[in-house]
Amino acid sequence: MPKRIAIVEDEAELAALIDYNLRRHGYGTQIFNGSKGTLKALEQHKPDLVVLDVMLPDTDGFELCRQIRQSAVLSRTPVLFLTARSDEVDRVLGLEIGGDDYMTKPFSPRELIARVKAHLRREDMDVEPAALEIGPFRLDRTGRRVFLAGRELALTSTEFNLLDFFVTHPGRAYSREQLLESVWGELRNVTPRTVDVHVRRLREQIEEQAENPRYLTTVRGFGYRFEDPA
Ligand code: CA
Repeated sequence: MPKRIAIVEDEAELAALIDYNLRRHGYGTQIFNGSKGTLKALEQHKPDLVVLDVMLPDTDGFELCRQIRQSAVLSRTPVLFLTARSDEVDRVLGLEIGGDDYMTKPFSPRELIARVKAHLRREDMDVEPAALEIGPFRLDRTGRRVFLAGRELALTSTEFNLLDFFVTHPGRAYSREQLLESVWGELRNVTPRTVDVHVRRLREQIEEQAENPRYLTTVRGFGYRFEDPA
């Protein structure tokens, strides 16, 4: 079964170019030229990844991403934002609301394919063991679900990967660069600031007080550490 990619992009030429390149690499595709009615269609289509333009004629890509994250069917689907704007503000906003990656136009088809591949490989990664329990945390890697004290957390694909990495290496401090290398791998569009954004989002999910974390602590002047809850 080919992996299916949804392309949400109102510029017809660019959508066709992305479509052509994805198909050439064996992906199944579906193009949406705006955000109106797209959420419903995506829920039916259940793509493996969404390429999402930020500037759309109706509601913008950020809003659609928010809806994707709130959808029971789509909440874990990787979202790769496309934008003409390269502001750090936009990049951070995109990640804050649950985007997994960000590409600034113009980009090369080759770069797009590399990122799509990397995200899908990440989704597929079958890490042993399939489940892991540490303190109140239980990770189901096959289903890519996380439970904290029996309650399921709603994590994005990237947040899941980050938490998976931390709980697999408790008690060890990692710099932002080491985390980028280990968790994001070849997706080097991201900056060290990206790590901070995702750590903050993760804390909001796993900590009682995000500003006074118990599990995911800051190692001043260095990076982060997951405190062994056992
Ligand atoms: Ca656009």
